[in-house]
Amino acid sequence: MTHPRYGENVTDPDSRRRQMVERQISSRGIHNRRVLEALAAVPRERFVPPALRGSAFDDRALPIGHGVTISQPYIVALMSELAQIEAGDRVLEIGTGSGYQAAVLVELGAEVYSVERIAAIYEQTRRLFEELGIAERVHMRHGDGFEGWPEHAPFAAIVLTAAPDEIPPTLVEQLALGGRLVAPVGGRWVQSLVVIERTEAGEERREVADVAFVPMLSGLA
Ligand code: SAH
Repeated sequence: MTHPRYGENVTDPDSRRRQMVERQISSRGIHNRRVLEALAAVPRERFVPPALRGSAFDDRALPIGHGVTISQPYIVALMSELAQIEAGDRVLEIGTGSGYQAAVLVELGAEVYSVERIAAIYEQTRRLFEELGIAERVHMRHGDGFEGWPEHAPFAAIVLTAAPDEIPPTLVEQLALGGRLVAPVGGRWVQSLVVIERTEAGEERREVADVAFVPMLSGLA
């Protein structure tokens, strides 16, 4: 067997994921059962480059190429909890990346629409979704997330996994009444995780935590 830190194989991934959930996620105050179960179920080790599989359950983001990262497990759990996904919800994700966050949203019962600006990552992740048998639940688009996906709006939730300087008004417009938008907002190195809820009265905004995401960039690559 290959050493887990270097090889393709991870020893006992199911129990390592459960351990990840206990030590990194429930211990930090995330108690939503469905979110914890989703993080324990989705095979995170399949979303990291083979050479990094041994680090798949580490308490941090990992590089996946093209200057892009797969987010830290805790942050994926936190954003999933804040988005309050119910089965059947139509959810827009900006920044498909590795596909891990999208797969967690699918596990929570969402119908996911995910936009990625880098063609190579879009192609690679599309193949992975096919291999994992979830391609039918994740509609993908190689496009610029600043435009959202108006043809499928309104969305019950919108999750940005790349950080803009300000929340694009176009995206808020694509949120259903009662819907939640969760996004890292701010500068290059540190951002605030912001939740916007669209209500009858307008938009309610709150800041939840400090986070570090890759920047949301305009145009295609
Ligand atoms: N959700 C991902 C996180 C990937 S990192 C995961 O779970 O792994 C953020 C991703 O956002 C990168 O792949 C980056 O290319 C993409 N991105 C940045 N700006 C974008 C934009 N304007 N539209 C769509 N995707 C964008």
